[in-house]
Amino acid sequence: MDATDSALVAGVLARERRALAKAITLVESTRADHRLRAQALLEALMPQTGGALRIGLSGAPGAGKSTFIERLGIDLIGRGLRVAVLAVDPSSSVNGGSILGDKTRMEALSLRDEAFIRPSPSSGALGGVAHQTREALLLCEAAGFDVVIVETVGVGQSEVAVAGMTDLFVVLQLAHTGDELQGIKKGILELADLVIYNKADIDARATELACGQMRSALHMVRGHSAHWQVPVLQASALTGAGMVAAWDSMQQFRTSTQESGEFEARRKRQALQWTWAMIDEGMKDLFRQHQAVRAELDATLGQVADGTLAPAAAAARLLHHLKT
Ligand code: GDP
Repeated sequence: MDATDSALVAGVLARERRALAKAITLVESTRADHRLRAQALLEALMPQTGGALRIGLSGAPGAGKSTFIERLGIDLIGRGLRVAVLAVDPSSSVNGGSILGDKTRMEALSLRDEAFIRPSPSSGALGGVAHQTREALLLCEAAGFDVVIVETVGVGQSEVAVAGMTDLFVVLQLAHTGDELQGIKKGILELADLVIYNKADIDARATELACGQMRSALHMVRGHSAHWQVPVLQASALTGAGMVAAWDSMQQFRTSTQESGEFEARRKRQALQWTWAMIDEGMKDLFRQHQAVRAELDATLGQVADGTLAPAAAAARLLHHLKT
């Protein structure tokens, strides 16, 4: 590692936000030489990671995520904690635009020294963005943040990715006003460790109804878990009502899963899954770079597209080159 990168390691450990921002830029880069430097950086910092509570937070656009994070973040700073916020936003990688909005979000929080806010990396597929965010999360831990919140929009795969890198997955929901049945997504029922109905100040009755429906839906899908019964809470990120209870519930989750061993078990599972995902990706790169594969790949894929070659036969033929 050269002097610049050693200084970067020292800067992150000294909790300098500029150094942290630079280190994250390095892990976000897809350039081969940057990847090597990023790996060395992460290896050096690895012993200092693991100390934060990693919270995933998801919700539809407009559910109140940034309002909620800002209020929670400022509350936590008031309790003496340091808070980092990262984002996984699939829209920003697909079309350059962002569902999670621009830099003006969480303005009050971003002004605090005890906070660090980083928007989503803006290039690459979701898989790549997820890896970069995991690495950014480790860097935030090395920089001494007590809580790292990974925010995402409520759209399928990015939720799975965020739940797969956090200790606790929180879903922010909105109650529909009126009596219609609430639309509850299956993914939420499977992934959530905590469900919070935000904007409870708007319509208390609708929120109450929605909470009841969510509880029964969760009960049907998840049944009784030995580790944790998913709480369904109400809050108003705008007025602050219910925010203390929400944080208490997150703390209870940590304590109870730490006692049952599930907390550590989940982290181990995630680390292994991450490793396999990296191996899968690396294998694919090696495959594409293989000389004999490169010579035949386009033509073979063309035959599959034409319907003259079965996908299984195409894959077997190409993979055979790796054995020789
Ligand atoms: P995001 O897209 O999920 O990040 O949502 P925002 O935090 O940007 O919030 C969307 C809008 O809802 C903003 O105008 C907020 O002021 C408003 N909002 C957020 N939380 C609440 C709440 O608890 N009650 C009410 N009435 N409005 C809220």
